[in-house]
Amino acid sequence: MKIKRVFLTVGVAVCSLVSAIAAPTPVLLIGADGFGGKMFDEYQKELPNLTRLRQQGASTTKMRCVLPSASAINWKSMLSGSPTELHGFTTWGSRSPEIPSREMGKYGQYPGIFGIIRDQNPQAFTACFYDWVGIKYLVEEKAVSESKNTKSLDEVIPLTEAALKKQPLFIFVYLGFIDGAGHEHGWGSPEYKAACIKTDEMVGKLMKAVENSPMKDKMVIMFAADHGGINKGHGGITLDEMRIPFVMAGPGIKKNVNITDSTMIYDITSTIAKLLEVKQPQVWTGRPIVQGLDENK
Ligand SMILES: [Zn+2]
Repeated sequence: MKIKRVFLTVGVAVCSLVSAIAAPTPVLLIGADGFGGKMFDEYQKELPNLTRLRQQGASTTKMRCVLPSASAINWKSMLSGSPTELHGFTTWGSRSPEIPSREMGKYGQYPGIFGIIRDQNPQAFTACFYDWVGIKYLVEEKAVSESKNTKSLDEVIPLTEAALKKQPLFIFVYLGFIDGAGHEHGWGSPEYKAACIKTDEMVGKLMKAVENSPMKDKMVIMFAADHGGINKGHGGITLDEMRIPFVMAGPGIKKNVNITDSTMIYDITSTIAKLLEVKQPQVWTGRPIVQGLDENK
């Protein structure tokens, strides 16, 4: 009897260990280029979908981007768990690193989230949809199951809906039009604000797409930006340019929590890796945002 009980106990322990290891939580990451943390705070009453996502999860508007506070640099950081000094992309539109990357992954890029998913979970379905061609040079395209440079916003929801039917592990949707409005009309201008509200509508549609898909209640939705802005630009060292919003909600995420811990843009990647149960490379310096995660995550 005693032996049987020992076997049973060990068996249950092994089973729970296996289920803990083999239970990745899929992630949909929505990125909005140029949506500064300051504007996110100012406009919050007019961002019903993002506000709902914040209430359902954990968020901050005090995350910092890396320097320089510009696009390619920060998208690379968000997708590869590391700051500028390690991935080596240094200008807004870098298509290859100006500083040699500290390490080269097997997909011809500094190791990123798509590469480590492919390496550690070869059967996983992943997708990347972006309306700025610059993203193409920052992701390990050979490691992505479906990658598309979208030509119109109308494509984004149907593409995501189709991807959600394929039991994806990770989807990245990039929206670039806020940054365009900022450069043309100024950060904080009526046109910029309208672009932020339109982004909120897109977030609402993407949330609905998840709710109406097989991924309902199984997927974490994240929202983040790469940098803010001031006047008609960014790239400098003011907090208006460096401060960005970050929101995550879904299974394994604490509800209605304000993340007060210090967080950096490259911590997003480490948080995604933790949710997906993939091991981050030694070269990454990101840390999972544990203040927003349930204890068993
Ligand atoms: Zn940008």
